[in-house]
Amino acid sequence: MEVQGTYSEELNLIKLSFAKTTPDLPPTMQLNQLIDYKVETKANGVLIDFNFSRDSPKFEYIKSNKESTSYLTIAQSSLTDELLFSKTFKKSYPIKSIQPILLPQSIIQFTIEFNTKEFKILSSSATLSKPNQIRIQVNFKSDIKSIYESEQRASQTQHLVDERQKWNLDVITLDAGHGGKDPGANGSTGLLEKNVSLAISLKLAQILKEQFPHIKIIFTRDTDKFVPLDERGKIANEHQSKLFISLHCNASSNISAYGVEVYLLGLHKTEAALAIAERENSVINAEVDFKTRYESYTEENLITLTMAQNAFITQSHSLAELVHSEITFNTGQQPRGVRQAGFMVLWTPSMPSILVETGYITNKDEEKFLASEEGQNKIAQSIANAIAKYKNKYEAQ
Ligand SMILES: [Zn+2]
Repeated sequence: MEVQGTYSEELNLIKLSFAKTTPDLPPTMQLNQLIDYKVETKANGVLIDFNFSRDSPKFEYIKSNKESTSYLTIAQSSLTDELLFSKTFKKSYPIKSIQPILLPQSIIQFTIEFNTKEFKILSSSATLSKPNQIRIQVNFKSDIKSIYESEQRASQTQHLVDERQKWNLDVITLDAGHGGKDPGANGSTGLLEKNVSLAISLKLAQILKEQFPHIKIIFTRDTDKFVPLDERGKIANEHQSKLFISLHCNASSNISAYGVEVYLLGLHKTEAALAIAERENSVINAEVDFKTRYESYTEENLITLTMAQNAFITQSHSLAELVHSEITFNTGQQPRGVRQAGFMVLWTPSMPSILVETGYITNKDEEKFLASEEGQNKIAQSIANAIAKYKNKYEAQ
């Protein structure tokens, strides 16, 4: 009982037309159980084989006008629960979906949707290919090149989506240097580095929240508490941050030294950079278990790590340059440059990371500036400007 023809896509009509051609069954009639169905692709078509427990399943095959959908209706049949689930196929596949439904009077209907966007369906038909098997054969125009190209397109689009996801600046970790029992450096009037770094961090977060409401801000600390150096990067990693910004104040025995430096992780190229890194790293002495905790933080490992983090170096450098020029332009502070040094706090974050020395707390004038609301606001706003520029630069790609 194979019927082929055009169809108005109205499901109820199928039931009616089927009901007319199906005589009433004696109640004792055993149902022919659908055991499974298998889909197999060929170079120029698809075969869908429906296997039954007994011979001679009764079926009807109807196609829609545009060959985009067909319906296989099987009478006096049953199927297991797991076959009742719809199947959807990947975008590059010639079939979009196979959806079974159970109709009254032990009728099962499969709606088969074809992928007419990527494939030109030439014909489809259903036959009894074995005594207990219904085979739907779908022929499409075989154009390997266009199929290949469409697959390439699909995977490229996906790749672009992934890349964009990667560069979607959605999480930033702000790391206020020092804290708690570790005050950092201090100024002549008693200003503590830990308080300046926290104040700038909170102000920066506020500006970023207003300017980029969709960016999530993570703090390594937002109160006066002690956080080990290696914990800070871990917090950023756990939240899958896209940027890590560590805020500090510089210090020198030369009280006339002043200005701004921005660092990225690397081998120190000057003795001055080494001295600053050593001072910032010395906080680990405040950690009880620092000897075992930072065992692997050797100069040798720093070389390896710097190479491993090469992927982030370009971006870290780019952000460092932006932050350095924004701060010095907006505050008038002395530009001391972008440098590399082995700051331990920059070892753990797996993302572009910088450390900002916002000014010399040991310089009387700069201490005053760093202590002021105005100074802190200007620095915070400058870093936010730099992040906005960085975002444009990298998200646009
Ligand atoms: Zn510091």
